[in-house]
Amino acid sequence: MVDRCKECGLCISFCPTGVLVRGNEYNARGYRYVVPENIEKCIGCRICEYICPDMAIFVVKGG
Ligand code: SF4
Ligand code: SF4
Repeated sequence: MVDRCKECGLCISFCPTGVLVRGNEYNARGYRYVVPENIEKCIGCRICEYICPDMAIFVVKGG
């Protein structure tokens, strides 16, 4: 869902463990979409998912 991201930064601000950052690549709308740079720190709280106004971010369980 990278094309939904509008780079508002809410998910970056609200993530309690600093997982998310602005990426270096642009989506179809010209925004630097958010990427999980420190994915190993993710505690699966799903705050990022709830806070995103554009439903651009989803938490999935990794293996
Ligand atoms: S689910 Fe992970 S990435 Fe999302 S806010 Fe919580 S710790 Fe951060
Ligand atoms: S994923 Fe959602 S909350 Fe995070 S920067 Fe993009 S639009 Fe904003």
